[in-house]
Amino acid sequence: MAKDYYATLGVRRDASQEEIKKAYRRLARELHPDVNPDPETQERFKDITQAYEVLSDTNKRQMYDLGADPFSSGAGAGAGGFGAGFPFSDIMDAFFGSAGGARGPRSRARRGRNATIRVELDLAETAFGTTREIVVDTAVLCDVCQGSGAAAGTHPDTCDMCHGRGEVSQVTRSFLGQVMTSRPCPQCGGYGSVIRNPCLECSGEGRVRTRRTIKVRIPAGVEDGTHIQLAGEGEVGPGGGPPGDLFLEIAERPHPIFERRGDDLHCTVQIPMTAAALGTILTIETLDGAEEIDVRPATQAGQVIPLYGRGVQRLNETGRGDLLIHVNVETPAKLDAQQEELLRELAKLRGEERPPGKFSPGQQGFFSRLRDAFNGR
Ligand SMILES: [Zn+2]
Ligand SMILES: [Zn+2]
Repeated sequence: MAKDYYATLGVRRDASQEEIKKAYRRLARELHPDVNPDPETQERFKDITQAYEVLSDTNKRQMYDLGADPFSSGAGAGAGGFGAGFPFSDIMDAFFGSAGGARGPRSRARRGRNATIRVELDLAETAFGTTREIVVDTAVLCDVCQGSGAAAGTHPDTCDMCHGRGEVSQVTRSFLGQVMTSRPCPQCGGYGSVIRNPCLECSGEGRVRTRRTIKVRIPAGVEDGTHIQLAGEGEVGPGGGPPGDLFLEIAERPHPIFERRGDDLHCTVQIPMTAAALGTILTIETLDGAEEIDVRPATQAGQVIPLYGRGVQRLNETGRGDLLIHVNVETPAKLDAQQEELLRELAKLRGEERPPGKFSPGQQGFFSRLRDAFNGR
């Protein structure tokens, strides 16, 4: 004898049909693949369903009590024994094989849907990470019925059309012999039970709508469009089913000064021609606070001054991007007489009164300027 079906269902050998049904339904609720998808639980679900198949049928139960296991393949798996004209193991293959999937009453509990919420963050928050309290409109388990959907003090009744199996079978004769077909029970919709007195709190849905506040840690380095998955923080499913996931979609507010490209930040600073020529010290507001940068003499328009490691924290990595300061040189305008005189004198001294100009093809682009910056030009 391969298996002890009584032990599988946790009932005594003299248990009544009602007790067997109750034991099975209690276990099925807890082990149903929709509720508990891990393989070990699914295996147990198969076992209890198999045990129930045998013990709930008085004929099969009698055979089993006499020592014949309808499911053990070695025991001359009773083609004749069960009189259906079908080897029992074949039927079970059809029930539990890869093609058919698990049968039996389906659970009312289904997984809740995923939800996506947009979270607007400032650059400093995406750069360094932050903690946010997020308000979500969602569904939670109904605490009056604990998800069962049945009114307080009542239970779903076993469906009297399918007797709790969730499906109705029909045996038809064909030239192949008898063929058994099954379809979901039309009375209970395949659940195997009927809720006659729905829970008043949730109208039998097993869940209630509510507004919830959750505290979320947003890691450093996220950017516009990053999705953060919060497993199990979505809405509870129908019938009190497991919750879906909540996704946060990050939206980064544009910063007034810094433009983000990946983990690097870019900004442009405008300095007068004289400062570019003579060099100067600039105070720049970085994400880490004010910092003094050294603008060297003879700094050219379009030159890039890098501040290494002053960019955005790399997501799930160590290190930070850079802050790249693009220098714009301002040509003096609105010269008064004295300034103009001085400039003319300077031009004369430098032999630049009528310069030929230097020509190069196209426009010197951003990347070549960037390369120059890294080559220390
Ligand atoms: Zn309820
Ligand atoms: Zn039914």
